[in-house]
Amino acid sequence: MVATDVLVGFGSNLGDRCGLINQALKRLADLPETSLLKISSLYESAPVGCLAQGAFLNGVVMLRTFLEPRPLLERLLEIENLLGRVRKQRWGPRTIDLDLLFYGHAEIVEASLTVPHPEINQRLFVLEPLCEVAPEWTGPIGKVADQLRIYRELNPEASACWVVAAPAVPDVRKVTDGIFYRYSQS
Ligand code: ATP
Ligand code: CA
Ligand code: CA
Repeated sequence: MVATDVLVGFGSNLGDRCGLINQALKRLADLPETSLLKISSLYESAPVGCLAQGAFLNGVVMLRTFLEPRPLLERLLEIENLLGRVRKQRWGPRTIDLDLLFYGHAEIVEASLTVPHPEINQRLFVLEPLCEVAPEWTGPIGKVADQLRIYRELNPEASACWVVAAPAVPDVRKVTDGIFYRYSQS
């Protein structure tokens, strides 16, 4: 059996965001048959949609795993539950959100799992960290670095629909404490 490289997006906008992200990453690294290969910087952005809620911290990790896609998704949802995720409204505030962005080059369309995650190319807060950890990654419509370039071209203000405060350089922060050190890519 061969291990698969997967990309998981994470986000938090409720409670101790950094602490929750740290705990989620620790749990991801501790998953069976899985290792954490790379972690992006954290990107802060205003929330998507009309709900009044706090700013998000987002990022992306690359894992190498022997878990199949559905069991992996179950583990992600389990970590969300353990860290106090409660779903009240769609796109509402969350202690932690873990999205399976890519599972190798698999394409899955099921009621409870769509891979690649369908919103990747519409979300700067996903594309930015994704390109930091895997710029050469190629999805069904091309390289993620090209998708980021296209997003920027189409959204020169980077503010219109999805991200009000673009994660421009000053907003990009390397977390330099706790487990982020241990899993940092460089
Ligand atoms: P979005 O998916 O637009 O980012 P969200 O993350 O807020 O929205 P959730 O409430 O976290 O949505 O997830 C709802 C359901 O989406 C999950 O229970 C899961 O079954 C399903 N789902 C489908 N595809 C994926 C995926 N690629 N990654 C994570 N969850 C997925
Ligand atoms: Ca999400
Ligand atoms: Ca989710």
